[in-house]
Amino acid sequence: MDKPRDALFNVAQLLKEPIGATRAYDILAPIQHLLPELIAAEPLIGHVQLMRTDRGILVQGELAGHVVVPCSRCLADVRVPVILHIEEQFQPTVDVVRGVFLEVDEEDEALLIDEHHILDLHEVLRQEVLLEIPMQPLCRPDCAGLCPSCGEDLNLGACQCATAEVDPRWADLGALLADVDV
Ligand SMILES: [Zn+2]
Ligand SMILES: [Zn+2]
Repeated sequence: MDKPRDALFNVAQLLKEPIGATRAYDILAPIQHLLPELIAAEPLIGHVQLMRTDRGILVQGELAGHVVVPCSRCLADVRVPVILHIEEQFQPTVDVVRGVFLEVDEEDEALLIDEHHILDLHEVLRQEVLLEIPMQPLCRPDCAGLCPSCGEDLNLGACQCATAEVDPRWADLGALLADVDV
């Protein structure tokens, strides 16, 4: 096996081979540039297999990595593991033997092999990574979040708001309510 490689493959040779022919690769794919909205993203590491099919190239693989996103309550960094199971069919846009453009019925452009016979897996990886990130990531299950009035991180202790003087008029009302039997 060669050194791990990025998720970009020249499939010209594989497209000339009979249906069922395969290639296997170890992958180390940097993804930070694909996901600038995240605080950080470590390269994905894993393994993919490319197989010639009647329609094009079937890519199957397992990749794993980590991304860093802000906690939905306190904005602290949250390191989220991502595990991807890839199974996507790519379609060629050019006939590798005759060099002519082909009619394409694949509507997702991310699943097209370009005119230089380059199969680019990055957009698939980007989409799959985004699906792995929870809607409301938490730095810990009981994150106390930020105070809505002063913005202080309540995980570090109570803010001044909590101990602020209660308006005396409301204090009277509080005393009154305390006397009421419910
Ligand atoms: Zn948090
Ligand atoms: Zn506060």
